[in-house]
Parts: sequence; structure tokens; C-alpha cells
Amino acid sequence: MTSQCNAFPHRRYNPLRGDWVLVSPHRTQRPWQGETGKTETAAPVHYDPKCYLCPGNERAGGHRNPQYASVFAFDNDYAALLPDAPAPAGTGSPLLRAEQERGRCRVLCFHPDHSLTLARMTVPEIETVVEAWTAQYVELSAQPFTQHVQIFENRGAMMGASNPHPHCQIWATEHVPDEPAAERVNLKLWRETHGRGLLADYVALEVQQEERIVCQNGEFLAVVPYWAVWPFETLVLARQPLRELPEFSAVQRRALADILSQLTIRYDNLFETSFPYTMGFHQGPGLEQHFHAHFYPPLLRSATVKKFMVGFEMLGMPQRDILPEDAAARLREVSATHHLGSRA
Ligand code: ZN
Repeated sequence: MTSQCNAFPHRRYNPLRGDWVLVSPHRTQRPWQGETGKTETAAPVHYDPKCYLCPGNERAGGHRNPQYASVFAFDNDYAALLPDAPAPAGTGSPLLRAEQERGRCRVLCFHPDHSLTLARMTVPEIETVVEAWTAQYVELSAQPFTQHVQIFENRGAMMGASNPHPHCQIWATEHVPDEPAAERVNLKLWRETHGRGLLADYVALEVQQEERIVCQNGEFLAVVPYWAVWPFETLVLARQPLRELPEFSAVQRRALADILSQLTIRYDNLFETSFPYTMGFHQGPGLEQHFHAHFYPPLLRSATVKKFMVGFEMLGMPQRDILPEDAAARLREVSATHHLGSRA
């Protein structure tokens, strides 16, 4: 049904955010004269004495990390949000609006080994991280000002990650930020209009069509969404209408660890590099919520060639060349085993 339009430019609607992406599949025929090529991989350093996240090392402000053996969480020494930030003074103009934004920023180290990434960790190791995410989510949600808890990982220097040590950040905010707020509006509207969940309906559609599924297990599937903006963007969806991490059973926590392992291994294998991305979870206690993860990787055609969001994309709308269906097929076709072999 879609193949007819797939040879020509068209635009696709993102029902989660309520916006559009321009798809230009005919452009993938154009000759490419840029660089290709892998990044060379340096020998892995398991402990870096200069890393502020490695066990036993000193951080800013005289803090010292314990000799942690699995996961380790602490309040960010350079937090973007503060729990006691006061309300800003009035400006006297409706054009100059500011609001109080209390919050807390935490760092969670996934593993003591400096050289690892989710793709190189075992499923039981990732399961420990899922348990830590759950505990942090519960703790930060319980603060009186918290309206949203955002767990996210910035992976790789290309994404601006300042430290390769495997870790994520968890920010709790006094307001629901723009991305989940836009989703919340559309999820609510869909439920009011259709009497069902938008993402539950989307899971059913993707299971039926199959062509955008990258990998799956009994509880989750990873798809390149129909409306993907980044070349190899994926959406990890719970099959059941789970709303937030604290609702997960042990089986579902294990399954989340498994799907994150499967997906990040395929990402690394695509260009045989440690694949950069920003990923994070959208979840919440609201009836309209449906737990999911977004992966936004910048790479386009090799380990070094990234997509730029410039020109028409800054002034008009996002645009992509490779079809989401073709991106899903490429990720499906690579090996399910990491190209560097198994660590176990
Ligand atoms: Zn989302």
C-alpha cells in the first residue's frame, strides 16, 4: 500500500508529537562524494585514573566515588536544576516570561568498567541498570515539586557526551518538558477520540505490517517509526500498555534489558563502530501514558558521516532521504551478535 508513494517525495505525520517529516527517497540515488570509513578502535581502558565516573576516583568539589561494583548514582556536581531554586522576579511584560523551575539532576553509572557500553554489557548487567532506573524514578518522583522524571543517555562524542564511561542522567523537573508535554496532548486526544491507546494501536499495526520492526521479544518491540526523522531512529514499545517503570514485573524488567541489548548490538554492528545516540524513556502515571524509549542516533551512512539538521530543517521542517522501512531492514539484516564478540 505504501510502496506506490515510496518512490516520490511525501510527508509523514508524527501522531505522537503532532508534526511532520519530509521524506525524499529518490535522493538516495544521488552520488555520494563524502567520506565513508570506520573509526579505528583503541584498546579498551577498563579503568581511567582521570575519569570522574570510575570507581574510587575524585570528582568536583572534593567528592570521591566509592569502589562500586555494579551501578552507582549521585547528584550531578554541576546540576542544571536545583531543588531550592527561587521564583524569578516579575519582568512587568507578558513578552518576557519566566517561571520557577525546581529540579534535581542525577548521574547513574551503569558499570564500573570504563570501557563498556550497553551494547557490550550482558543482559543481567543491564537488568541491574533497569532496577536502578526504577528506584531512581520512584525516589525522584516522590519529591514534592516533581512533575516529570526524564531518564536519558547521551552516547558518544558525536552527541556531545563528555565522558565515555557508561552512564546516564536523570533529571526531575517542576514542569513537564515540551517533548513529553506534546506527546501527552496527542495521547490524550487519541484516547478521547478512539477509546484506545495511540501506542497500543501503533504496536498492533507494526506487529501486523512487520516491515519496520528491527527486533523484538515477548514484552517489547523496537521499530523504526513510520515518521522517523533521524536516519536510524528507533522507538522501543511495550507490547502491554505499561505506563511507567514501577509497574514492571521482573519478567518485564528483564525483557527491557534484553531489547536494549538486542538493539544496541545491532546499532554497533551497522557501521562496526560504537554507535552514538541520545536515548531516553517517556513514561508517567497518567492514564494516557504508554512506556516507550526513543533512540535518536545521528549517523547517516558510516561511522563518521552524520546527518545534519540544518537549512530547510531549521527553517522549515525535518527531512530524511532513506525510507524508514529500508532503515529497519538494514538494522534487521546485521548480525544479532556483537562484531567484537561476546564478553561472557
Ligand atoms: Zn515519546
